[in-house]
Amino acid sequence: MPNPALGARLRLAIDAVATACRITRQVQQRLHEVAQMTKDDRSPVTVADFAVQAVIAMHLGGHGPLRLVGEESSDALRADPSSPLCHAVVDAVRTVRPEATLDLVLDAIDLGSHDASSSAYWTIDPIDGTKGFLRGQQYAVSLAHIEQGIVTLGVLGCANLPAAFDRSFNDGDPHGQIFFAERGIGCFALPADEPNATPRRVQARTQASGPIQVCASVEKEHSSESDTDRVIAAVGGAGEPVRLDSQCKYAVIARGQADAYLRLPTRKSYLEKIWDHAAGQIVAAEAGAIVSDIDGKPLDFSRGATLAGNRGIVCASQAFHARLIGAIAQLGI
Ligand code: AMP
Ligand code: MG
Repeated sequence: MPNPALGARLRLAIDAVATACRITRQVQQRLHEVAQMTKDDRSPVTVADFAVQAVIAMHLGGHGPLRLVGEESSDALRADPSSPLCHAVVDAVRTVRPEATLDLVLDAIDLGSHDASSSAYWTIDPIDGTKGFLRGQQYAVSLAHIEQGIVTLGVLGCANLPAAFDRSFNDGDPHGQIFFAERGIGCFALPADEPNATPRRVQARTQASGPIQVCASVEKEHSSESDTDRVIAAVGGAGEPVRLDSQCKYAVIARGQADAYLRLPTRKSYLEKIWDHAAGQIVAAEAGAIVSDIDGKPLDFSRGATLAGNRGIVCASQAFHARLIGAIAQLGI
């Protein structure tokens, strides 16, 4: 049964992400087949990226005018419309939209070309954590709504994330989880393959239950491993962080499975993208965690497509956030 408490916009977003997760799961299960067909090891993620952006844009655009800031554009596909990649993208979209044609798919992808300049828009990362997706591990379909520079709604499709806390993040899961949050309403979770199930409220840890447990990126260039180790030691922790790709890390903090997600810059010039953090930020914050940059400043979503006013990310339970920010300042990171 649909949950009557969900507003129309949130329901639309959850359905869009759940539909997208059906595509990503199918492609992730056939990684080798898709790579072989298109003769490119990276093409499964490319196929899923394009197909998901198209499907989510079709879903949102079917309900009125759409302003969408998406990571993808159709330029590469239009350059060679008879390529195996184009065929694979259309085939993937047809698994949930049997009526899709190449033209419809290309036009839908380009609905995501808004430049983040208006007062309200959606933003989407069709597959956040592409490397995790290709390893058969964690990734997230990420969709958020931003109004006047504030994230008001976010949905994370963690389609390969086990519900049980004792399962390894590397194993994947046949159901996955969708996390969603709306400003002032809280954060909830559903099985990704049952979007009409009754949502469960999820809450971040409120107290320290021992030495800090941290999660961080798998990819070394996305977050400094040495700085992360120094910060963990400075707050009395020990050992390696748990590593997983994508905004699933925000969900792990939101559901109280760890104390903190640290993303410490590896270089000054990198600007975080809004679609890499908007949905995750509201999911974690509405679950009771604190999300800021590494200087303790709130994430500023009013600067276009990047978080140009921020450095890195600290997402942590209330018990640890201030200590982490203090340690980062003291270490001069
Ligand atoms: P994660 O899976 O958390 O490691 O993050 C994946 C995201 O990292 C991708 O969506 C990229 O947009 C982003 N990314 C790429 N290069 C960098 C970088 N140098 N620093 C931080 N994030 C990056
Ligand atoms: Mg991303």
